[in-house]
Amino acid sequence: MTAGLRLAELLELLKIQDAGAALHAQIAHLFPICRSITGNGVRETLAILRERVPLEIHEVPSGTPVLDWVVPREWNVKDAYVKNSRGERVIDFKRHNLHLMGYSTPVAAKMSRAELEPRLHSLPDHPDWIPFRSSFYRDNWGFCLSHRERQQLDDGEYEVRIDSTLEDGSLTYGELFVPGQSEDEILLSAHVCHPSLCNDNLSGISVQTLLAQYLSALVKAGRPPRYSYRFVFAPVTVGAITWLAQNEHNVGRIRHGLVLTLLGDSGPINYKRSRRGDTAIDRAAAHVLGRSGQPHRIQDFSPYGYDERQYCSPGFDLPVGSLMRTPYMQFPEYHTSGDNLDFVKPEHLADSLAKLLAILDVLERDATYLNLSPKGEPQLGRRGLYRALAERTDDGNAEMAMLWVLNQSDGKHSLLEIAERAGMRFESIANAAEMLAKAELLARV
Ligand code: ZN
Repeated sequence: MTAGLRLAELLELLKIQDAGAALHAQIAHLFPICRSITGNGVRETLAILRERVPLEIHEVPSGTPVLDWVVPREWNVKDAYVKNSRGERVIDFKRHNLHLMGYSTPVAAKMSRAELEPRLHSLPDHPDWIPFRSSFYRDNWGFCLSHRERQQLDDGEYEVRIDSTLEDGSLTYGELFVPGQSEDEILLSAHVCHPSLCNDNLSGISVQTLLAQYLSALVKAGRPPRYSYRFVFAPVTVGAITWLAQNEHNVGRIRHGLVLTLLGDSGPINYKRSRRGDTAIDRAAAHVLGRSGQPHRIQDFSPYGYDERQYCSPGFDLPVGSLMRTPYMQFPEYHTSGDNLDFVKPEHLADSLAKLLAILDVLERDATYLNLSPKGEPQLGRRGLYRALAERTDDGNAEMAMLWVLNQSDGKHSLLEIAERAGMRFESIANAAEMLAKAELLARV
């Protein structure tokens, strides 16, 4: 295995501002598409991502049993509107795809305001936002609109038209495998099933895609990461369940994993622990956020949220946490048209990516060593290590880090554990271990 890969350095080379702008541009490109848990919106989204990374696209037919579920019928929409008695489109899917409730069945009808009323959804507390509603598993239809627009509807007759199809087709998901030096895998997963919502789905999709691009470029350049990386882009819940059903025989290779979502808002970064709570990814994330000097939150696992629910179901119990900024339902824009291109900002996206890379760096570089001169402290000067230390201007604690690594490297403590015990940054400890290994004082277990 080559010397530890520094993903965070990659970000410096690529300039963090540029990364933020690229992430935001990718979100803007995907924003207009009407996605749902099945249908052409997911296909179109994955096709756009495929221009950047060679995603494998999987189509799983409706009716396929997947774990305790069945792949649903496929939903597509051509048009949907409500016209008033003057023939004006007062609610128009073509103006904003949130106007139509997801999975609405086809409708062509005339009705009074009173008959229409129970089919309408709005948010009196946020009268300018359109809510996001779906009805995946029960045949239903409805329209969503801002409360202000709802109040302007008069009592005349309305023409309701939903030109949708709900029929046997398939569920679409994308997957990319980036081979590393080891067969052990890191799983990254983002959901791809929300319509025009930025933080919720598009931020995770774009961060995950840029990471996949970076890693693919490293492999091409002959510098593969230590781990192999598996990227899953799937509709929430049933998509992840489908992926798990089809990959049950492979999940044993997953050593660490993260669900990526809600990465573009201005809130502090938040890590949600895996079900097990004390796996390497849990400790790596807590270490990176805890030593970042910036506000952050570590949240315990709960069986709600995104697809960590599936990856951490007891039959799999994978070491998969979730990285986000403000958690689901804790910001008013959540599942509304307020979650738009202004709500997510390049600087927050770039910061999320930087933290993600730092966490992955810890996993990439973490290892357990054995001190080859364990009786008394080895003489560092004789081996040129003080000179090497003096040359290092990046780290004032390098000598302390070396002493910690030598003392704790009895084959039982990983570098991350040593960093935690020493109360030092992982990077300092990993750099010290690299120098000591070069001086043949350490051997990797
Ligand atoms: Zn959502």
